[in-house]
Amino acid sequence: MGHCRHIGAITLFPEMLRSIFSTSILGRAATKGLVQYHTWNLRDFGTGSYHSVDDYPFGGGGGMVLKPEPLADALDRSMNLLQECTGETPRLLYPSPQGPRFSQTVAEEWAGSSRPLLFLCGHYEGIDQRILDEYPLEEWSAGDYVLSGGELPCSLMVDAVVRLIPGVLSNESSPVNETFSNGSFDYPQYTRPRVFRGNEVPEVLLSGDHQAIRRYRENVSRRKQQAVRPDLGGDQASVSR
Ligand code: SAM
Repeated sequence: MGHCRHIGAITLFPEMLRSIFSTSILGRAATKGLVQYHTWNLRDFGTGSYHSVDDYPFGGGGGMVLKPEPLADALDRSMNLLQECTGETPRLLYPSPQGPRFSQTVAEEWAGSSRPLLFLCGHYEGIDQRILDEYPLEEWSAGDYVLSGGELPCSLMVDAVVRLIPGVLSNESSPVNETFSNGSFDYPQYTRPRVFRGNEVPEVLLSGDHQAIRRYRENVSRRKQQAVRPDLGGDQASVSR
C-alpha cells in the first residue's frame, strides 16, 4: 500500500468540501489512511476588521473579485504546510472555465503522482489576475459552462482522482474497465431480479459463456459510444474482463 496522499483546498465554503470529502469512497479513503484532506477557509486570511476577501473590479463591470492579499497569504500558508507534510511541492490547481478540460487522462496522471494537490476555489467574478501571474497555478475546467464557485469542480476532480489511488476501491480492477479508461464506454449493468416489470436480463448474461458475454458487452458499448460520443474512438479490442 502506497503512502498517504495529501489533498488540500482553499475555499470560502470549507463545510461544503468537508462534507463531500468525508462521505462514501472519499471518506473511506481517508479512514483507511490513503488520503488526508486539508481545507483552509479563505475568510481566515481576510483583511481588516471585517476579514474582507473581495472588492470591486478596477475598470468597472459587475460583480466582485477575490482580493490578492488573502489569496496570497492562504496559498503561502497551505503550500508550506503541504510541503512540510510530504517533502514535495504541491501541484497548484485553479478550477476555472478558462482552463483545458479536466478528463480521465488528467485524473490518472494526478493519481499516479505522489505530489500533494492544492486547489484554489474561486468565487464571484474570479480571482485577481496577479495571483495567476505570480503563482504556478494550473487552470482546469470542469466543462463548458459557468458555475458560481470552484467547490463543485474541485470536488469532482478530487473524486475522479481519489478513486484511482491504489487501495481506495475494494476491487482493485474496477477502475481499469470503466468508461474512458480504454477510450470507450463501459457496458450496461444488470443485477437481480432477472425479470423487472416484464423486462428480462439479456439471455447471454445468464449463459455462463464468457466469450459470448464479452462479445455482447463489446458490441453494446461500442454501438452506444459511436452514437453518443464518436469523438472518443475507443479501442474496443482492448476491452476485457
Ligand atoms: N468571470 C468568470 C468567467 O467568466 O470566466 C467566471 C467566474 S465563476 C462565476 C466563479 C468561479 O467558479 C471561478 O473563479 C472558478 O473558480 C469557478 N468555475 C466556474 N465555472 C467553472 C468551470 N466550468 N470549471 C471550473 N471552475 C469553474
